[in-house]
Amino acid sequence: MLNANDIRKQFPILDQTIYGKPLIYLDNAATTQKPLCVTDCIATSYNEINSNVHRGIHHLSQIATEQFEAARGKVATFINAQRSHEIIFTRGTTESINLVATSFGNTFINQGDEIVISTMEHHSNIVPWQMLCQRTGAKLRVVPLTHDLRFDFDAYKNRLNEKTRLVSVTHVSNVLGTINPIKEIIETAHSHGIPVLVDAAQSSPHIKTDVQAMDADFLAFSGHKMYGPTGIGVLYGKEKWLNAMQPYQFGGEMIQTVHFEKTTFNELPYKFEAGTPNYIGAIALGTAIDFIQAIGMENIAAHESALTRYTVERLKEIDNMRIFGTPDGAAISFLVGDIHPADMGTLLDRLGIAIRTGHHCAQPLIDYIGIPGTVRASFAMYNTKEEADVLIDGIKRVAKMFG
Ligand code: PMP
Repeated sequence: MLNANDIRKQFPILDQTIYGKPLIYLDNAATTQKPLCVTDCIATSYNEINSNVHRGIHHLSQIATEQFEAARGKVATFINAQRSHEIIFTRGTTESINLVATSFGNTFINQGDEIVISTMEHHSNIVPWQMLCQRTGAKLRVVPLTHDLRFDFDAYKNRLNEKTRLVSVTHVSNVLGTINPIKEIIETAHSHGIPVLVDAAQSSPHIKTDVQAMDADFLAFSGHKMYGPTGIGVLYGKEKWLNAMQPYQFGGEMIQTVHFEKTTFNELPYKFEAGTPNYIGAIALGTAIDFIQAIGMENIAAHESALTRYTVERLKEIDNMRIFGTPDGAAISFLVGDIHPADMGTLLDRLGIAIRTGHHCAQPLIDYIGIPGTVRASFAMYNTKEEADVLIDGIKRVAKMFG
């Protein structure tokens, strides 16, 4: 088991007061805080080794390149990718999905083809596919949810047919905290010869990610949601798909030869990394991964699940509490009576409690449930039971104010 109170010492931002109250940071699904080793790594990298990667023969450029490529290796190990050139550095989950929608889309999607997503997707796993469908005349098919707001597996099977070219689903819902049966979803798609993209933005910080065990064709996640810096993320893709796909952006580093008559493209992963990459961000993401690995993904998952279960039980003490779906990840969405989520969020903020309110970039899901939005508390490795208790007391106080 991990000791959250010890871990908190690595996160100076948590040690502050907001409106005179100790900060209770429960907006981790939006972004996590950064440990000292990550912020130190960013400062040290800029102060000691900064130099553009893959370009210079000089000493600093070689060190920066080595560290950048070592970070790629750490990501590969973290998600158990077979080859480190299957790791493409991007700005984050959103860019990773856009990359696939553009490059896979331009290569493989034609009029009449179908792409399958689910009702609980984040906008970044909806809109790129919608735009691809508009460009190509392909069709977006959406898997509904069951009455308890889980992925409807039977309906999913019915959505797959000979026209389906890709399935793109989230591993963990950022609104409901539901963990989807991703292995079975992939297995079923593969039985029809259909590749699958996994949106791992909410799963990579919380549960072990193993692209080979789940047999994902593509997997996307963001550094900033797993204790790393902003502006860096990952697309994993199976070599056979990445090799077959057109490049995403064009420019320096992604080319092999350029002549005015013709350009040839670089090999993986550089074919998909046009321009100067965020190498300092990648190196610091590598440090965040070292930090996670030292604590242990199993310990993190056990801690956050226990905290989530505890909080759900305590939330049930509150009159007129509605918890949406099954929060088996590390996020809980709820409403109390007819208190508007924005009112609850504003008043909790006055108590030093940072939670998220609104549609959480998943408007179709919120419409599907038929509510104005939710209040969402989401946990990370540094949160404690005592913080969950403060949250419960805060919600009770707000509920009392509204009578
Ligand atoms: N997918 C899911 C499930 C998410 O929770 C998020 C972030 N809220 C994203 C995609 C987008 O991530 P980013 O903004 O880091 O690109």
